[in-house]
Amino acid sequence: MPCAVGKNSRLNIKQTDTPIVTTDRPSDDAAMTTNSPLLIAALPAGVLLHRDGRIVYANPAMIRILGLANAEQLLQYSLLSFFQPEAWKRIEQAVHAMEPHETGGIPSELTLTQADDKEATLEIVTTLITFQGEPTFCTVAQDISKRKQNEERIRHQANYDGLTGLPNRTLFLDRLQREIVRATRQNHRVALMFVDLDRFKWVNDTLGHAAGDDLLREVARRLQECLRKSDTVARMGGDEFTAILPDMAKGPYAERVASEVLGQLVSPFTLCGQDVSISGSIGIAIFPDDAATLDELLRNADTAMYRAKSAGRNGYRFFTPDMHAEAQERMELESDLHHVLDRKELIIHYQPIVNLNTRQVIGAESLLRWIHPKRGPISPAVFIPMAEELGLISKMTEWTIRTACTQTQQWRQRPDSSDFFISVNLSCTRCRDLAVGEKIQAIFRDTGLPPAALVLEITENILSEDATRAMAMLNQIVQMGVNLWLDDFGTGHSSLSVLKRLPVNGIKIDRSFVPSSSSDPETIVLVEAILSLAKSLNRQVIGEGIETEAQAEFLRNRNCSMGQGYLFLKPEPAERFETILGKTFS
Ligand code: C2E
Ligand code: MG
Ligand code: MG
Repeated sequence: MPCAVGKNSRLNIKQTDTPIVTTDRPSDDAAMTTNSPLLIAALPAGVLLHRDGRIVYANPAMIRILGLANAEQLLQYSLLSFFQPEAWKRIEQAVHAMEPHETGGIPSELTLTQADDKEATLEIVTTLITFQGEPTFCTVAQDISKRKQNEERIRHQANYDGLTGLPNRTLFLDRLQREIVRATRQNHRVALMFVDLDRFKWVNDTLGHAAGDDLLREVARRLQECLRKSDTVARMGGDEFTAILPDMAKGPYAERVASEVLGQLVSPFTLCGQDVSISGSIGIAIFPDDAATLDELLRNADTAMYRAKSAGRNGYRFFTPDMHAEAQERMELESDLHHVLDRKELIIHYQPIVNLNTRQVIGAESLLRWIHPKRGPISPAVFIPMAEELGLISKMTEWTIRTACTQTQQWRQRPDSSDFFISVNLSCTRCRDLAVGEKIQAIFRDTGLPPAALVLEITENILSEDATRAMAMLNQIVQMGVNLWLDDFGTGHSSLSVLKRLPVNGIKIDRSFVPSSSSDPETIVLVEAILSLAKSLNRQVIGEGIETEAQAEFLRNRNCSMGQGYLFLKPEPAERFETILGKTFS
């Protein structure tokens, strides 16, 4: 009679237990008692195990799975040594609960540490049988390590970013959700940090995608260095990274991390053999202080990041409630900006450019205004950067040049204004559009305006993105006979060297350098230096923001031949501007 293993019997294996091993088929006696040993011999991997833990029989496939060269080697090992203590405990518990001829009581998936310390995952089915009159466990095992590895690889691909190895958006959202739940339960705070690189596009465009990839990998590495093990750094896509800082109860940790991250990002990266500097903008929102839900937390960290970017980049901002209203407003403006041309909401204001010696109106600068149906006039300082970001600037610039040129050609028909010229501000991002020259040619053709009557105003930032492309475009414009002026001169960092490189024939001194009665002597010395430099480089100088006679006089006395400012006229719509056309200011 087969003897059953009671619920309280123990599978008691000690390190000193010696398993009985055979690689031969079990005896006929066994075969007569049960068919299982025969079955085992035929199966991929099987083991008969005495209830005290001794191995009664192991077939060759099982010996291979255990990582042994032959059956004799099994004598050196206890079965226990193949399993982690935790797994073994689970086996013991399951065995206690088994009834005779019951199948599958032992956990069906087990991790086994092979003799050479490699890990294998087994799928097993165990039945309690009677073998040679003894209660015996018959275990059939299949090595599913390969399948598990594949599953793991697929899981990894679904959760991790292939380029940087960081958690991807999916895993990030999952972890954030868990941290929010945990923080709610434990009354903790979680900080969410959005990090966006400031010059990634430039690296990608100028140094190529391989350099862009290298940069992202190195950024990922540096970010990880700034954080604790319990924090999560993830890549959301493109040049956007996020960090979850759980358990924020301990002091101003987020602030410290943000400063460290910024520090890490500004130290140069070596890409394609050259040192490249970038920077980052960081937004931080805290749960539950700033947001009640995951979506809100994400949105608010993004808003704070955007604010950091628009505040001049290379900085961090914590979310504040007023940012929310602002972000809302910005979103509405952005969506309205897409329709600004179809809805004819853009108008040009003209500000006279005056010959400072004769006080005659010789030209005008065109300055865009957006007349919003609900909000009224919106400053170009607000909507031009938006249009650049949304990719709307090319169309807008083309419209401005065409409208201003058409208007100018009309005014030039007047006998007192036949030499009148117009200047138009050219946005920096415009240089990505290589067809700009052809578009301007078409405008000249259609309006009849001679190229010499057009001035394009550029700023030195034009060289900060893709200098080679920008120079090609500028040279093309100059060859057409169009004038180029460098706007806002004196406000940048590298003005003198830029002045030498750019094919400009005029410079506009920024209004902060036009000395007023309260100006300090240093400003006066500086503007005098700029004027004498322009003279020696044979560039025209145009003074901006002239509000007083004293300022006009100061500039005129130092060879600044042209100027504009409220002293003469504020920027005005065409109808009002017309009233001073051909005029000489007294
Ligand atoms: P900007 O090209 O330097 O234009 C000069 C700015 O100074 C104008 O501001 C003008 O209204 C203002 N201004 C002129 N005279 C005086 C004065 O005597 N005192 C003071 N305090 N300010 C004076 P606005 O019209 O707000 O334009 C701001 C900027 O927006 C412009 O600076 C230019 O960079 C940009 N912008 C304007 N229109 C366009 C455009 O069509 N395309 C592009 N890309 N940018 C434009
Ligand atoms: Mg200008
Ligand atoms: Mg200016």
